[in-house]
Amino acid sequence: MRCLLCQIPLEKYLHKNGYWIYRCQNCHLGQTDLKRDYTKFVKEFYSEGYYEGDPTRSAYADYELDKPLIVKNMHKFLAFISDRKPSGKLLDVGCAFGYVVEIAKSRGYDAYGFDPSSFAAGKASELVGKNRIQEGTIQEVTYPKASFDVITMFDVFEHLQEPLADMKKLATLLKPDGIIIIATGDTRSIAARIMKRRWTFFIPPQHIFFFHRKNVAKLLHLAGLKPTAWHKVGKWLSLGYVLHLARTTGESAIASWVYTRIKKTPLMRFPLYIPMKDNMVIIAEKGGKQS
Ligand SMILES: [Zn+2]
Repeated sequence: MRCLLCQIPLEKYLHKNGYWIYRCQNCHLGQTDLKRDYTKFVKEFYSEGYYEGDPTRSAYADYELDKPLIVKNMHKFLAFISDRKPSGKLLDVGCAFGYVVEIAKSRGYDAYGFDPSSFAAGKASELVGKNRIQEGTIQEVTYPKASFDVITMFDVFEHLQEPLADMKKLATLLKPDGIIIIATGDTRSIAARIMKRRWTFFIPPQHIFFFHRKNVAKLLHLAGLKPTAWHKVGKWLSLGYVLHLARTTGESAIASWVYTRIKKTPLMRFPLYIPMKDNMVIIAEKGGKQS
């Protein structure tokens, strides 16, 4: 494998969940070797088990029960653009069950979304209506060019196999003065540096790319986009979600023990504010140099 940005061979970085994560020695971009076809993978992997606590997957303990907290985080993300783009046509990439589309509508946007998982896209259609949701990957979906004021990518960027090609396509969907807002993990955050392999973002196979500020800026630039604002954020998570992450990606036996004991109780939904600030929110507009 070669670095998407520097084109030099990647080196082995760490092994987790049966996958190797590689890293570029020059720009420190991390990449999981997925070992199989991506499009097929995303359609199979993001099924019910992904959202409902399958112990073999470091994903959601119960996505629907966690909705109030997910909604809280998404409002926080959308607040970053409320001055600049308080309304207009919005597209949510990787919309899962459609929560961002629903929230964006409530904030005054004409909101749409898509997801490669037919399970998730079905749930989203039930929530916000079929006319607002498409099923497919970024490369598969069809929207008119230059039609969106805002494109949102919350906790999606790290799931992409071809982020450069994908960002180029998304840039074509933006109006000339449109903006993209991305929330993803930051490999140079203090949490990532301290936790190393146990950092909750290192979850192969679903997390494929691992960025920090500098290399994500380079990628956006190559896609014809220019970052204009950066934010660091903490997140609201449920106790159940935190324990599920800790027992899977954190490889913690204690978390696994506690999780099993509180699994069917309301304690699972106990809200925790995680001030780790290992997420970065990037706002970008058109105007970088297209490669
Ligand atoms: Zn590189």
